[in-house]
Amino acid sequence: MRINSIGVLVHRRTIRRLAFILPLVALMARIAVAQSYDILLQGGHVIDSANGIDQVMDVAIAGDRIARVAPNLPAGQAKKVLNIKGLYVTPGLIDLHAHVYGYSGSVFPDDTALLAGTTTVVDAGGAGWRTFEDFKKKIIDVSKTRVLVFLNIVGRGMLGSEVEDNVEDMDAAKTAAKIKENPNEIVGIKVAHFGLPGWTALERAVEAGRLSNTPVIVDDKIFTNSGRTSREKLLRVMRPGDLHTHVYNDRQLEVVDRFTGKVQPYMFEARKRGVLFDLGHGGGSFVWPVAVRAMKQGFPPDTISTDLHSSSIMIPQSDMANCISKLMNLGMKLQDAVARSTVNPARAIKRFPELGTLGEGKVADIAVFDLKTGVFAFKDAWSKKLLGTQKLECVATIRNGRLVADLNGLGFPLWNTAGEYEVIP
Ligand SMILES: [Zn+2]
Repeated sequence: MRINSIGVLVHRRTIRRLAFILPLVALMARIAVAQSYDILLQGGHVIDSANGIDQVMDVAIAGDRIARVAPNLPAGQAKKVLNIKGLYVTPGLIDLHAHVYGYSGSVFPDDTALLAGTTTVVDAGGAGWRTFEDFKKKIIDVSKTRVLVFLNIVGRGMLGSEVEDNVEDMDAAKTAAKIKENPNEIVGIKVAHFGLPGWTALERAVEAGRLSNTPVIVDDKIFTNSGRTSREKLLRVMRPGDLHTHVYNDRQLEVVDRFTGKVQPYMFEARKRGVLFDLGHGGGSFVWPVAVRAMKQGFPPDTISTDLHSSSIMIPQSDMANCISKLMNLGMKLQDAVARSTVNPARAIKRFPELGTLGEGKVADIAVFDLKTGVFAFKDAWSKKLLGTQKLECVATIRNGRLVADLNGLGFPLWNTAGEYEVIP
């Protein structure tokens, strides 16, 4: 009895305490739940190739991370809700070939990338081992856009033919050492514009790649008396995992035989041995006669990239959304184009699964697109146009969990519904 009565006493005390504490706990839990997501992207069609997602789902963001990807997440748990019904949601795009430093036409990445759904750009050879620190200080460290680097095999970087033809400044060991010192930023090596005969530039780049265990991206014209052929380059000199950019240029790879109109057999052979082909649209490297024939014959690029600089952004409009649109109008499915702009480049630069996916717990780099239908003109490097019926337009970009581009104010309340003089952080 005594034990029982003590037991009852204890029980009553506990109940009294609980009666006081429980509402507090419930209130705290409600606050915690209400704040559990910073942004909710509601009702969009999610394309996340890495996780096999291709359906309508919500995406919740907490801090700088993706918290949940699932259907019908409760809107009450989010501070900001973007209703994106009818729009597409993808991982932030990775532009594998852009110019944001060194080259005379370089553009500051935030000025062009984020508006097009690109959250990561890889600068293609603007800096070499001698100039990387300057690049890091002036651009990489101050950009909202994530900037990664293909380091030029030329120590001084992309400064025109006099510098870029100087084999004395192509030091594989010093290039590899700089890569090893900066693994967070440097993902590989660029060799470009070599205007002399022979294989020296390519071989030094491949040697630096071997020493640093990173891929080489090649931009190399085959010219008369160069002593180089595309066949030998792709089948002997380049390694599996190395990339050739400017795949739809007419003079870089001779992808399509001009007389027969057929894709060269060595292109398929090279792909089979693991060489990757990158779009690298640029100002002079995307021409319809090559792109149309190659796409028709089953030779799409492995990775989609812009080769963005101050002139390619103008008439040819080589940003990522336009590059994807051009390929879609040649028959590539949106899902396929997204894979070639997210997971494929992430894998090529060995940043998968860290980048290129919407996996829960990954960094919240996300793009939202509208796929418009109508009649649109798409221009190439030879000042010709192709009329297409689909156009992808970026309407919002989230970088590191923050809404950094919002074309139509999806994340904004009407001015007179949130307190007219209240500034929303
Ligand atoms: Zn380029």
